[in-house]
Amino acid sequence: MKVLVTGGAGYIGSHVVLDLIEAGHEVVILDDMSLGCMENIHNQAEFIEGSTLDETMLDDVLSKNIDAVVHLAAFKAAGESMIHPEKYSQNNLNGATNLLNAMMKNDVKTFVFSSTAAVYGYPEYLPVDEAHPLKPINYYGFTKLSIEEMLKWYDQLKGLKFAALRYFNAAGYDVNGRVMGLEKSPQNLLPIVMEVATGQRNSLDIFGNDYKTKDGTGVRDYIHVNDLASAHVKALEYLQDNDSFTVNLATGEGYSVLDVIHEAEAVTGKKINYTIVDRRAGDPAELIATSNLAEELLDWEAKYSDLNTILKSMWNVYNQEENHD
Ligand code: UDP
Repeated sequence: MKVLVTGGAGYIGSHVVLDLIEAGHEVVILDDMSLGCMENIHNQAEFIEGSTLDETMLDDVLSKNIDAVVHLAAFKAAGESMIHPEKYSQNNLNGATNLLNAMMKNDVKTFVFSSTAAVYGYPEYLPVDEAHPLKPINYYGFTKLSIEEMLKWYDQLKGLKFAALRYFNAAGYDVNGRVMGLEKSPQNLLPIVMEVATGQRNSLDIFGNDYKTKDGTGVRDYIHVNDLASAHVKALEYLQDNDSFTVNLATGEGYSVLDVIHEAEAVTGKKINYTIVDRRAGDPAELIATSNLAEELLDWEAKYSDLNTILKSMWNVYNQEENHD
């Protein structure tokens, strides 16, 4: 298939492109390079620098025999989305609308969408399954949920076939070292821990150690980007003969902030200094999910998402001279 990957130069996108090419697909990357990394653009992919806000360009790209679209281009910082919701309306909502409309115009009917655990909001039960209530607590989650809703309507009204993939905590780098460019301005726990290990930061803040979890710190379900990537390829192939679907991509296993720090010390051989500070607003104590549906529908399983593999694959990238000058 000839697949357009928006955000294909980004952190998750560059891993998705690797897997698509390995599976024999032809890839066109569209990325505005606001968060993308030139170094991670696959040399066998066609690259177009541009934005999903450029409707003329989208129409042009989609008129060139594209069979399917994998849409990852979006802003994803939940905190920022509460301060600048307009940025998220513009980039995430308008971008997805433009893309879908250009697809409909050019009769491209297969869509794999990068969604998020943020569509659920605070977990009402654990592990979270796809039937869990959808009550986002940040604007970022709202934009992703709105697009999911739009996809259902386009399915009904226009014959779109979509896969909405709800990622839990994405982490890690390609286990074979093929993606070596660091994610731009990462704001999540694992990259921050890596920056402490390399000495770029002196220490990290742990947001609360009085949660009702095994050691008082927040527990999350970390999923390796290689596992996320393989699910995109399987989703695309599944949609050729099957109906639209929405699934979680997670492991069902939770690790606390202290688990991450201790494992990172073992993997890197460095001391990870930290300070306990107040809880961060909007953080649930624990968030883990079941991916039974993805396993069943896609014959997918997480293979690289144990904490040790995740952290080793990250250290391989962070522990390079050029990445912490
Ligand atoms: N966390 C932390 N210090 C940091 C960043 C994150 O203690 O500098 C905690 C956060 O409270 C949560 C976990 O690490 O329990 C994962 O947070 P992250 O921001 O990576 O992802 P989130 O689950 O918020 O999407």
